[in-house]
Amino acid sequence: MSQVWTRKRAGTDSTPRSKSFSTAAVVRNPVSNRPQIHQIELPLSWAEESKLPGSVPEWTEVYLIDGDPLTLIDTGVCSAASRATLETAFEALGHGLADVGRVVLTHAHRDHFGLVESLRACGAELECCVHEADAEGVERFSDLVRDRLDGMKPLFREFGVPESVLARLYAARLRGLAVEDAEGERTSVDRRLVEGDRIEWKDWGLTVMHSPGHTSGHILLEDAEAGLLFTGDQIMGQAVPHAENFYLDETVDPKDPLRRRPRFRGLVEMRRSLRRLRGRRDKLLLPGYGGVIRRPDRSIRDTLLYYDVRIHRIDRGLRHLAVMGQDVTAYELWKALFLPGIPIDGAGDEHLEAMHSQLLLVIGALDCLEEDDLLVTERRPDGVFTHHHR
Ligand SMILES: [Zn+2]
Repeated sequence: MSQVWTRKRAGTDSTPRSKSFSTAAVVRNPVSNRPQIHQIELPLSWAEESKLPGSVPEWTEVYLIDGDPLTLIDTGVCSAASRATLETAFEALGHGLADVGRVVLTHAHRDHFGLVESLRACGAELECCVHEADAEGVERFSDLVRDRLDGMKPLFREFGVPESVLARLYAARLRGLAVEDAEGERTSVDRRLVEGDRIEWKDWGLTVMHSPGHTSGHILLEDAEAGLLFTGDQIMGQAVPHAENFYLDETVDPKDPLRRRPRFRGLVEMRRSLRRLRGRRDKLLLPGYGGVIRRPDRSIRDTLLYYDVRIHRIDRGLRHLAVMGQDVTAYELWKALFLPGIPIDGAGDEHLEAMHSQLLLVIGALDCLEEDDLLVTERRPDGVFTHHHR
């Protein structure tokens, strides 16, 4: 998951539901010249748990592709409701869950790979395919989620978050781990994909495009002949994706004068991935959320614009704090932009819940400004990074 939910955009379409078999299973054939592609809606549990009804989606979209092998693109979360809905949809299409011969995962988030092992438990002798950079996230699910959570502490510490706030933030994230653990499970991977690989059937196929940012191994699947792109969480109908940001290594980069540990800079990667998609002539995007996207170029530009606007705002915030003579850290920027007028001790749990993704956005924007050669980063004696314009 990890998306920012926005209101419905023009050019997206979650109707018509061409075949509604029951209230629990919705299947569409979104592409007239590719009748083998079925889009299936699977329920999510976090919509019920959300404090803000309607603020998160109630379902995710997966794709069943008829052919040999019978193939699923993404699976939904590991839950009884999701599995039962998938089974109902399969039955309506004349299949059983044990018939799945291949699963292709757009990325290593539990709402995309959660049911793979359940399918195997049903008897499916399937090949599980995921990009090589996301394979560990699937095979070491739970451990890796915890490792990344632990890695949040040194990351946020370096970007200026005080220990007392860090402890509260960590405790809040730890509570969320129980939900994550329940909706995914360790999943073995059979094929590690790379850019340009083909997912093939007898007379057609999809080409793998590596599109990092949301995760390091996120992929898109392209059918150039039909003008189709399966976009996972990279381009969605009603949301923009968060960008991941984590350390890649325990040891510092010897070439970096600031002695930083190498990091996956998700927003820098995401911006590069999105720019690569501009000007494409796809007819349809088939996302993991948001139905069917019928105005692809606009959705791609909207997602890029969403981030460009925020990077610009963070850039302006940096200038403002610098003019006031402040020592500018990512944490000070976050407080100025996202917590105006509220002392941190008075910030409630709702602020802390949002803080994690907001801080990652600030750090990602600083990464982009550094990438654009607009920003100088320095390290204070206490190890914290400060930032100023060139
Ligand atoms: Zn995701």
